[in-house]
Amino acid sequence: MKNRGFTTNIIHSDRLGKPEHGSLHKPIHTSIAYGYEKAEDLAAVFQGTAQGYAYARQANPTVSALEKKVTAMEQGVASVCFSTGMAALAAVMTTLLRKGEHIVSSSFLFGNTNSLMNTLAGIGIEVTFVDATDVKNVEAALRPSTRMVVVETIANPATQIADMARIGALCQAKGIIYAVDNTLTSPYLFLPKTVKATLSINSLSKYFGGHGNALGGSVTDLGGFDWAAFPNILDIYKTPGSDPALFAMLQVRKKGLRDFGGTLAPEAAHTLSVGSETLALRMDRACGNASRLALHLSTHPKVKAVHYPGLPGHPQHSLAKELFKRPGALLSFVLSDGVDPFPFINRLKLAICSSNLGDNRTLIIPVAHTIFFEMGPARRASMGIEDGMMRLSVGIEDTEDLLEDFTQALG
Ligand SMILES: *Cc1c(COP(=O)(O)O)cnc(C)c1O
Repeated sequence: MKNRGFTTNIIHSDRLGKPEHGSLHKPIHTSIAYGYEKAEDLAAVFQGTAQGYAYARQANPTVSALEKKVTAMEQGVASVCFSTGMAALAAVMTTLLRKGEHIVSSSFLFGNTNSLMNTLAGIGIEVTFVDATDVKNVEAALRPSTRMVVVETIANPATQIADMARIGALCQAKGIIYAVDNTLTSPYLFLPKTVKATLSINSLSKYFGGHGNALGGSVTDLGGFDWAAFPNILDIYKTPGSDPALFAMLQVRKKGLRDFGGTLAPEAAHTLSVGSETLALRMDRACGNASRLALHLSTHPKVKAVHYPGLPGHPQHSLAKELFKRPGALLSFVLSDGVDPFPFINRLKLAICSSNLGDNRTLIIPVAHTIFFEMGPARRASMGIEDGMMRLSVGIEDTEDLLEDFTQALG
């Protein structure tokens, strides 16, 4: 399987798992409980000495098929899926870290992840935010209690790219967990494994599923971390004879999924799985559209600035080229002074004013007035978010139609 192409592997992964009746898709299993003829067999599932399903809060065959698909795409060792990307992030941090320990996080973060970090700080896990586009800032923030470094591949809305390879080398040298949120790139554009990440986290709700019709999240262990030496793995999850590479995902499943219950529904798992079959096709098309739009906007007199890693003027342009297959499908731009953002957005006929990203449809949002409103003008200024800043999640529409829509709306 591994030698074949990205899309070939996805398209055939259910079938090669030999689902019931020769079905080509893994069916949607709706039963929440599983019956056993012999009590010993159910006990063995509970005790982890046999593979099987007991209660669907922690495992379901349809969700397992998706987990295998994500693991293969990320070239990892195991994955756990969740009801949302936030559920995955929260489970990782609360189950692998302890009170008094410390996270170094990129300050350029998805807003809700930023909010989660503040929640963690309130319950005794300390967080330091740094500009992670330079590894020196990460290194300077490390403490003896630092257990995890968290970055996103492309930050939203201003598209900063973390110094990912050097941060990976630093984390490896210090034995620190390196968690990379791969949502904006997806495993098609980028493999966090190539920068020595410990965990890759994806919001499956975005590019992975791609159609804006199902929520989901995943965490994948990329196999490079020594969990046997990590103090926070409970003894019950270090089963003798089992592979230490799987300890963390077992703990995340048991403590994170079972105890907190952020379970992915089998119907959503199926929808996301079908959506992922066209990830490469959609991503190529959306990135192509984003490149064309970024170029177009960057020469428009009513646009003051465009942030897109594919533009030569982007501060991490060469890094993006080095790391990613393509520079992504998310960009932001700042309207020139005097251009009122609301009438401009209202004139757009194709781009939809909406807070999501990673949909097939092009979505636009004025960030200062919406997702970054709550944090106030001072914090917005510190994050480089101007009042006229628009975030654009570019979809798969025909390129000329998109260019025409922006031209008429700016006109
Ligand atoms: C959307 C998003 C999340 C959260 O995912 P949900 O599935 O909406 O919970 C996390 N990280 C990034 C980078 C995102 O864009």
